[in-house]
Amino acid sequence: MNTQQGKTAARQRAVSSRSSSGKQKRAHKRYRLKASVRRKLAILGVLAGLIVIALLLLWLWPAREKRIYHTVGVQLQTVNGIEVVHDYIPEGHQNRPGIQREIRWIVIHETDNEAASADAWHHNEYLKTNETDINSWHYTVDDHAIYHSLPDEEVGWHAGDKMTENGGNMTGIGIELCVNEGNDFEKTMENAAALCAELMKAYDLRIEDIKQHHDFSGKDCPHRILSADRTEEFVKMVQEATKP
Ligand SMILES: [Zn+2]
Repeated sequence: MNTQQGKTAARQRAVSSRSSSGKQKRAHKRYRLKASVRRKLAILGVLAGLIVIALLLLWLWPAREKRIYHTVGVQLQTVNGIEVVHDYIPEGHQNRPGIQREIRWIVIHETDNEAASADAWHHNEYLKTNETDINSWHYTVDDHAIYHSLPDEEVGWHAGDKMTENGGNMTGIGIELCVNEGNDFEKTMENAAALCAELMKAYDLRIEDIKQHHDFSGKDCPHRILSADRTEEFVKMVQEATKP
């Protein structure tokens, strides 16, 4: 090989070496580009997975429904063919605190007074005239009469749970069933069930919103219904009465 040939070969080697280094750089760049795309795809994949999990959790989460409770009372005209007498405890009496509230429950009681005279009318008179006992409820029912002594949207003292938030006193409508001698208790139960049904309709209450005094303070009330194990029967009577 002469000198000229040697120079040409060296130039060719240099060109070939430059060309191979360029290819490597381009390959490296392509690799880096692919890696960055892979990273982005991985992040997108993780995000999509998280969104799917979140949607699944939302779907599986029990629907937490927000109930709207009524705060404006109604005055029923007739229940089970009986005219409802609205004859309220005077404002300012100790047993009518005048506290406006939401209506969440219907609370069933019994008067526990077996004297022949202890009918619905007498209990209403007692509520209106008694200014010393801090004791009041909304309706008294017997076999022929229904007295409404306290507006439904006002607190009454009947459930024995003081001022417990959302409790029987603060958010319940108290109904007393008379147990006086000579009173037909079966008819009284029927009238009370019909009253419960009308109140449920008026205030969008459900069958599980029908409670007993016992549920709020443990008192043995309504005594006759509890002792004869007739709670379920009463609830069924209310259910029947709600049917059109
Ligand atoms: Zn009671």
